Amino acid sequence: RARTSDDLIRAEEPVLAHNYHPLPVVVARAEGSWVEDVEGRRYLDMLAGYSALNFGHRHPALIEAAHRQLDLLTLTSRAFHNDRLAEFAERLAALTGLDMVLPMNTGAEAVESGIKLARKWAYDVKGVPADRATIVVAADNFHGRTTTIVSFSTDETARAGFGPFTPGFTIVPYNDLAALEAAVDDTTAAVLIEPIQGEAGVIVPDDGYLAGVRELTRRTGCLFIADEIQSGLGRTGRTLAVEHEAVEPDVLLLGKALGGGIVPVSAVVARREVMGVLHPGEHGSTFGGNPLAAAVGTAVIELLETGDFQRHAAELGVVLRDGLTELVGKGVLGFRSRGLWAGVDIDPAIGTGREISERLMHEGILVKDTHGSTIRLAPPLTITGDELVSALGTLERALR
Ligand code: PLP
Repeated sequence: RARTSDDLIRAEEPVLAHNYHPLPVVVARAEGSWVEDVEGRRYLDMLAGYSALNFGHRHPALIEAAHRQLDLLTLTSRAFHNDRLAEFAERLAALTGLDMVLPMNTGAEAVESGIKLARKWAYDVKGVPADRATIVVAADNFHGRTTTIVSFSTDETARAGFGPFTPGFTIVPYNDLAALEAAVDDTTAAVLIEPIQGEAGVIVPDDGYLAGVRELTRRTGCLFIADEIQSGLGRTGRTLAVEHEAVEPDVLLLGKALGGGIVPVSAVVARREVMGVLHPGEHGSTFGGNPLAAAVGTAVIELLETGDFQRHAAELGVVLRDGLTELVGKGVLGFRSRGLWAGVDIDPAIGTGREISERLMHEGILVKDTHGSTIRLAPPLTITGDELVSALGTLERALR
C-alpha cells in the first residue's frame, strides 16, 4: 500500500530533526506555479520555496539545461577547470554590473564568504589593524543559520543555545541612516544589509535609505554588501532590489533563485578591487562552481536577460498591491509589498499567521507565516493575473 500524506508526516516524526514546523501537506510533484500532494490535491504555490522558485517549478528551459549537463559532466571540484564556469561568471557579472564572481552553494555560504571577503579587504586594502575589522548589520536581519551569522541575529529563537558567538559585528536599527552613521568608524570593513528584509516580514525601507547607505559607505571608505539572496533575481520587479534606488553595491550576495529551484547555487559578486584580495587557498568549496550548478545558473541568467520576469513581477505587483489594499480593515491590519512580494499583517483577532496559512492550505493555496501574525506572499513569477486575483479572493474569504 502506498503511504498517504498522514503516514508520511507521522513517519518523519521519529527520524527527522524537529528544526521546522511545516504545514501538513506532503508535496509529490509540481509544475509551474502549482504543486500536487500525495493524494493528487492541487495547490497554488504562493511561497515559491522562499523565492528559490522565482521561475516556477521545473521551468522547461532550466530542466532542459540540467538534463543536458547531467549527460555530460556534473562535478570536477575546483582542482580543475570546467567548461561551464567561465560563461556563468561572465554573464552573472554582466547581469549585475559588477566584475567578478565567487561561486558557492547556499545562501548562508555566500554570506559567510562575503564576510570573509570584507574582512580581508579591510586588512589588505583599507589598513585596519589585524583582527579589528567590524561589520555593521541591521536589527531584525536574516542572513542564514551558521554560527557566525546567528552571532549577529537579533532573533532569540535563532541564537539562544548556540553561543559562544563570533565577535566583530555592530547591530543598528534598520532604515535608520543616523544610527548607521554613528556606528561606522575606521575599523568598519562593511555595512551588510538586506535591501528589503524578507524574513522580518518584507520590510521595505524608506525611499532614500539604500541611496543613503551607498553615499555613507562611499564617503567613509567601507564596503556596501547587499544581501539579495531573497530580494534579488526578479522578485521585486527588477533584477535586483537595489535598482529601485539606482544603487550599485560593492558586494552582492545571491542565492535561492540562482539555482532555479533545481540545485543550490549561490554567489558573491563584487568589484574587481574587492574580489582581488582573495588568493589561491584562502577560500573555497568542493561543490561551489560545479558544472551542473553553472549550467543551471547560466540558464537562470538567460531567463533574466529577457527582462520578461521582471516586467511581469512589476505588472502583477500592482495587482497584488491593489488587492491587498482592499483587504486592509477586513482582517488585514497592514501590509508591505514590492513587486510580487508582500508581508501581510493579519488581525490577531482573526487568527495567527499559522492559522490563516492552514485555512489557505485547505482552500488550495500554500503560504507560510513569518513572525506571529504576518504571512508572506511570494508566488512564482510565472503566476498569471487570473491566478493571483483568484488567490486574493481566497485570502479575502479566509479572513472572514
Ligand atoms: N540571506 C537572506 C536574505 C535570506 O533570506 C536567506 C534565506 O532565507 C539566507 C541569506 C540564507 O540562505 P540559505 O537558507 O540558502 O542558507
